[in-house]
Amino acid sequence: MKKDFETLRNALLSCQNCQKLFGFEPHPVVQGTSQSKIFQISQAPSKTVHVTHKPFNDLSGKRLIHEWYQISSAEFYNPDYFYITSMANCFPGKAPGGGDRKPPKICAQTWLEGQMDLVNNQIYIVIGRYAADYFFPKRRFDELVFTDQKIRGKKAFILPHPSPLNMKWFHDHLEFEQSRIKTIRAAVYQILGKN
Ligand code: SF4
Repeated sequence: MKKDFETLRNALLSCQNCQKLFGFEPHPVVQGTSQSKIFQISQAPSKTVHVTHKPFNDLSGKRLIHEWYQISSAEFYNPDYFYITSMANCFPGKAPGGGDRKPPKICAQTWLEGQMDLVNNQIYIVIGRYAADYFFPKRRFDELVFTDQKIRGKKAFILPHPSPLNMKWFHDHLEFEQSRIKTIRAAVYQILGKN
């Protein structure tokens, strides 16, 4: 039987499927309602988000919210505007060679499509190569970023990950911050009723 939104959300927020895999208590992070207008999907929460329970409460969020979207924190954290979820809803721990571990596949398999079924969003924003590969396997990431896409028949924009670790991509694709982000920002503004 299909779950209702609140049941699914509560089950996701109390999920501990990966406790053994992580070796610590998972902290699922998700924001939004069944009526959020923009459905945003990224890779996985950072350590800072794990500790504070607030999505994008880190350097990636600073770039995403204030430099790329150019909206206020109040707008970004308004659940009527943004549904904020990830390929994995918990920080997966640090990888031995540095950086964060890859999101456990079980998370998207268990939770993502169910959230997409139950949220009545207008557009999708997919952040980072890992999430883009889930929706558009075998497509070139750069091509996805620079052209409008569709997911489930709705307009979808693909963003590079705003992490400071992604500086090389930004330098190699200056046109993203010079022009492409303006199109995506305009779509966000239109949905938020900002001009
Ligand atoms: S990452 Fe996903 S599947 Fe794993 S514990 Fe967190 S919410 Fe559950």
